[in-house]
Amino acid sequence: MPRQQRTLASIAATAISTGEQDSAVLHRSLKTPPMLVVSARERHLTFSDGHEILDSTCGAAVACLGSHNERVKKAMIEQIDKFSYCNSMFFGHPIGEQLCAELIQGTEGAMAKAYIMCSGSEAMDSAMKMARQYFTEISPQENKRINFIAREGSYHGTTIGGLSMSGHVARRSLFLDMLLPNVHRVSACNAYRGMKKGQTTEQYVAQLADELDRKFQEIGPETVCAFVAEPVVGAALGCVPSVEGYFKAMKGVCDKYGALLILDEVMSGMGRSGTLHAWQQEGVVPDIQTLAKGLGGGYAPIAAMLINHRVADALKNGTGAFSHGHTYQGHPVSCAAALEVQRVIREDDLLTNVKKRGELLSSLLHKHLDGHPYVGNIRGRGLFWGIEFVADKQTKDPFPPSFGVANLVHTIGLKGQGISLYPGTGTLDGVKGDHVLLAPAYTSTAEEI
Ligand code: PLP
Repeated sequence: MPRQQRTLASIAATAISTGEQDSAVLHRSLKTPPMLVVSARERHLTFSDGHEILDSTCGAAVACLGSHNERVKKAMIEQIDKFSYCNSMFFGHPIGEQLCAELIQGTEGAMAKAYIMCSGSEAMDSAMKMARQYFTEISPQENKRINFIAREGSYHGTTIGGLSMSGHVARRSLFLDMLLPNVHRVSACNAYRGMKKGQTTEQYVAQLADELDRKFQEIGPETVCAFVAEPVVGAALGCVPSVEGYFKAMKGVCDKYGALLILDEVMSGMGRSGTLHAWQQEGVVPDIQTLAKGLGGGYAPIAAMLINHRVADALKNGTGAFSHGHTYQGHPVSCAAALEVQRVIREDDLLTNVKKRGELLSSLLHKHLDGHPYVGNIRGRGLFWGIEFVADKQTKDPFPPSFGVANLVHTIGLKGQGISLYPGTGTLDGVKGDHVLLAPAYTSTAEEI
């Protein structure tokens, strides 16, 4: 039957062969093991039954160059041929020096130092510890700064630190008793759900800045370490950029009380939003930022924390050492992979492609879906787009959670259309909203978009 004529039910019923039922892997679901990926071709993935899809989300916004980039493969092998591991707690290495220099250069000198690790969650934990250490370095009087202010509808990682920071209700729910008590919360910046009828952008920003200010006052401004946010909210809300002027206003409140601004660019960074860092579109520079996903493009597990001059100088003039470290920090093969991924992005001018293809994606999404009765909102930046589904466009009421709309759309995409859509159910102000996220590769062709 031609693909267009297949009904929703028949698509959902057409199971593509899954992994073995008795797999030894502790998969995400032990009830429905996942399909097994056996090979890839540029931006396409092939499963064990021969079925192929376009990886239109780069996994979870990771594989920004697709698979089989010859330059990256060669760089990794060259590094392995030199040496595959050394203890970065005690020794440096040229490839780590080069990668960090590349990262700092990408901020045009706004940031001072880079610290390399393996995952976005680790990067968030490191950022929390770094913020805390900053205040212990600058003055014994600042020792009271132990509180963080994060946002609802956010995701910052799966470790206890990262999850404590996250406002992702579903991912937190099982572990509430284990999470850190020193993380406080303010509203997300979400124009679609948060702006009142008739409210201007300036008024909305002022409202959110006022809320943050009041939160500082409530906790005690002298106890706040940092405000933490994703410049473009990824998994928790489905790709929600902030409104104009939001981050300037938030930074203003942080500055007023001497607190740090931590930006989580694990998903939005390294070109995904159209500039190397999403904060470069906001007119602010963070004190600390995290990076992961597009940094190594999936060729190796790698993440980074960047600190600005204020934080680096405090460390240099204080104890001189970040009180943190783990076995695989600065792994040389991961550094080689990430350095080459970043060089490819820069030398092949892929940010121009991200902008161009992003404009095309935006116009196609709006053209084909604006009029759809169940599409409430389409938003995004660069090659990072989210579609939010509603049962009623006027009231913005979501579908009942039992419908599993986001997962259904994901299944239709995967099995019916041969594309991957990253599904999510965010909770904001008690409203559970279904969304899917699109994050195609920076190398995408117009046809693929
Ligand atoms: N921060 C953000 C914004 C993320 O999107 C994620 C992962 O999706 C993380 C942190 C955690 O990164 P990781 O899964 O690499 O630990």
